[in-house]
Amino acid sequence: MIQKELENAINAQIAQELTASYSYLGMSTYFDELSLDGLASWMQNQHAEEQQHAMKLLNYLQDRGGRVQLASIPSPQVEFNSILEVFEISLQMEIENTSSINKLYELALKNNDHATKSHLQWFLDEQVEEEKSMEDIIANLKLIGDDKAGLLYLNDKLGKRSPDSEE
Ligand code: MG
Repeated sequence: MIQKELENAINAQIAQELTASYSYLGMSTYFDELSLDGLASWMQNQHAEEQQHAMKLLNYLQDRGGRVQLASIPSPQVEFNSILEVFEISLQMEIENTSSINKLYELALKNNDHATKSHLQWFLDEQVEEEKSMEDIIANLKLIGDDKAGLLYLNDKLGKRSPDSEE
């Protein structure tokens, strides 16, 4: 049986993963409207991945005899000023998510809950990947600047991401 304090914190993290998932879905609609299908598909994969993160936590909480509480998820942003802005917001979101996973991990440490610590290890590693992929795309976009051919190249490249790849 999991402690109440951790149960609450994991429920909050489930909501955070689902909020991120919904945000990425909103971003994919922005790219779809710009006819950047590669970027739209990359964001849809990101949406699916965040949903998997939420499910991983939800199943874990159930396995530990905790009670799942599903919070309301706010409507995501769908209008942006630029492609770069979308990825800057994404990076910020991932940085905040890393910090909340860190806090969850510290709570598990404080409660001597070694199983939760072990489960969260995967998420800590995943966050390194998430931040890196946003940073790489931001760097590419800055390099591309106003070059339309460069943007179409990036669109093609990101469109090749397979649903399970970590890119
Ligand atoms: Mg996540």
